[in-house]
Amino acid sequence: MPAPDLDTIVSLAKRRGFVYPSAEIYGGFANTYDYGPLGVELKRNIRDAWWRSMTRERDDIVGIDAALISNPKVWVASGHVATFNDPLVDCKKCHQRFRLDHIEEGQYGPAQRDAAGNLLCPNDQGELTEPRLFNLMFKTQVGPVAHEDATAYLPPETAQGIFINFENVLTSTRRKLPFGIAQTRVSFRNEITPGRFIFRTLEFEQMEMEYFVMPPKDRENPAEYLALYEEWVQERLNWYINTVGISPERLRIRPHDPAELSHYSVGTSDVEYLFPWGWGELEGIACRTDFDLTQHGQLSGHPITYFDEETNTHVVPWVIEPAAGLNRTLAVTLLEAYTEEPDEKGDKRIVLKFKPNIAPVKVAVLPLSKNEKLRPAARRVYDLLRPSWMTQYDETQSIGRRYRRQDEIGTPLCVTVDFQTVGEDGQPGDDAVTIRERDSQEQTRVPIANLLQALRDKLPGC
Ligand code: ATP
Repeated sequence: MPAPDLDTIVSLAKRRGFVYPSAEIYGGFANTYDYGPLGVELKRNIRDAWWRSMTRERDDIVGIDAALISNPKVWVASGHVATFNDPLVDCKKCHQRFRLDHIEEGQYGPAQRDAAGNLLCPNDQGELTEPRLFNLMFKTQVGPVAHEDATAYLPPETAQGIFINFENVLTSTRRKLPFGIAQTRVSFRNEITPGRFIFRTLEFEQMEMEYFVMPPKDRENPAEYLALYEEWVQERLNWYINTVGISPERLRIRPHDPAELSHYSVGTSDVEYLFPWGWGELEGIACRTDFDLTQHGQLSGHPITYFDEETNTHVVPWVIEPAAGLNRTLAVTLLEAYTEEPDEKGDKRIVLKFKPNIAPVKVAVLPLSKNEKLRPAARRVYDLLRPSWMTQYDETQSIGRRYRRQDEIGTPLCVTVDFQTVGEDGQPGDDAVTIRERDSQEQTRVPIANLLQALRDKLPGC
């Protein structure tokens, strides 16, 4: 099925409790969203899947969780204070503000120019101001007195918390190169471009890993380093396909042009997804060389190195960084999972076909009807499943409508308790329940005694 349009997803996300526009009672707040009961589960499941793939399925990566607000020199060393700038232009007619590179890239449709070749406003073809640089970092003040020395920054990326802890991790874990340090946490950027739902927001979660390796023998020709970088690019692409369940035909790898590369980088590729408005970045895999560790070593006066026992020398490791966005991935899971099918009555059945490991709710326990006789058995099944999976209990409305509700939030399995389970007219029940599968709508009868195992088999990786 072709991807749905964005409005369909935005409205379902709000209706069902995935994502709400923030502060709606005050008229909202640009580029800011809140996550509802299902959104918070979905986000957690994607984050956990990433964390598991980095720190549990591999034995060469460890995790950390560094402070968000820290010494401002961190951002001087990283270059963010001096250069984390985007050229901005304002329209002289409608007064909307745009990132110049976004107009040029065609993010608002084909770029339009006047007769002299100057770019025009994508909104109303008005004249644009000269570009001005604008730092994307949010500032704050630490301590009781507001003066320049008290300025601190909200982190615009996750990586620096890892670099400044490289030596701590090295000595406390006795790691040998190569090894990685992973971190997931919120980052902040003063984004002014209208955000397209949760694609571009003021605060967002990143899932980043810095993989430290021995520096190449020849800086100008780091063949082994580049080969490992290519491996990471493939590994990350495969994660989106196999773990998150994104269709390969809507994913691509886009290597950066040399002109696009950061001055220290010898290669960067983005994993991109075909959003309803075109290709957009989900993750960047960057060769950051020894830039960050060297910078922190110089500015702090405390060189950050690794002792190579083979050559008896101190070296500065090189780094490969896969940096992914959790919120953009969440938007993609909604776009990818959304399916409309005709049901047996010719009506529309909306199904979110999440992979079970990503689905916010794994099982719904549904008594056939709201009936005193069914409730004790249904509650017993609910209590049995809750310790193992995120489970919902629902006894309101007809069973057909309740199946639809679960389909629409992507619950892979429903367990139905009926009169055959509990017995009727003095006849004993069979103490069995029906498992109904979301995608095929197939139903299987299973004794409650075997239910946990039967569900486990149907919920791999959950
Ligand atoms: P873009 O070019 O789209 O602004 P970027 O290249 O600046 O992104 P990185 O610094 O490489 O992004 O950050 C890594 C990932 O973090 C991105 O691939 C994206 O998934 C996510 N990300 C970055 N900025 C935002 C944002 N404002 N809102 C949501 N996610 C973001």
